[in-house]
Amino acid sequence: MSAIQEKSAILPDLRRRPVYDAECRRCGRLAAFLDEVRAAHPSYVCRPVPPFGADAARLLIVGLAPGLHGANATGRPFTGDHAGILLYETLHAYGFGSQPQGASRDDGLFLDDCRITNAVKCLPPGNKPLPAEIRACNDYLAADLATIPDGGAILALGRIAHEATLKALARGPATFAHGGRHALGRGIVLFDSYHCSRYNTNTRRLTPPMFHSVFDAIARHLGRDRPAVPQSASRPTNPR
Ligand code: URA
Repeated sequence: MSAIQEKSAILPDLRRRPVYDAECRRCGRLAAFLDEVRAAHPSYVCRPVPPFGADAARLLIVGLAPGLHGANATGRPFTGDHAGILLYETLHAYGFGSQPQGASRDDGLFLDDCRITNAVKCLPPGNKPLPAEIRACNDYLAADLATIPDGGAILALGRIAHEATLKALARGPATFAHGGRHALGRGIVLFDSYHCSRYNTNTRRLTPPMFHSVFDAIARHLGRDRPAVPQSASRPTNPR
């Protein structure tokens, strides 16, 4: 069986959706902003940031969009971003990550049964994508979501990720609340958390225990125990 046939056995409609496109320039404002940032920071990746993690992972984490000096620079979601500090520490504590930090694409970090993506793949000015940009990127998110097997979990980081996820799945609106959960069918549950942004963690709108309680619920849903011993960093990195 070819790789595409294997994928389509899990996800019958994946081939009808556009998957990640490193050359995408659908959003004029975002494409122009990336050109500007690339001129100012030639060492930054400055492209749509692809999802990172295990193929067909049961947990898909949906963030907002790459940060200027983090994911946009390194080319990996939440890598180098302040928001990645709590996220990668928590993934490690719950056995989804092989190490507690994400520093660069070649840092050896491996995600187990977990994949991370963003509602918007390109860096938006001021961290604020426009509604039209969230809509334009939504079929890429739909392709990411289509990789989740039955019984899986989605973690939406913030209201925009929550709404973009429901739209990508052609669901009606549902109220976003930290700690909220929404059954989506096929045993898949959408979990909501406040975004682990610098603003939210500095103001303590989101504390580590609040974030961990969402991961406790996800781990219960997936039937995973939080490991007593942190995962070792000795495994290979996920394919890119
Ligand atoms: N970096 C990302 O990749 N996504 C976010 O939502 C925030 C920072």
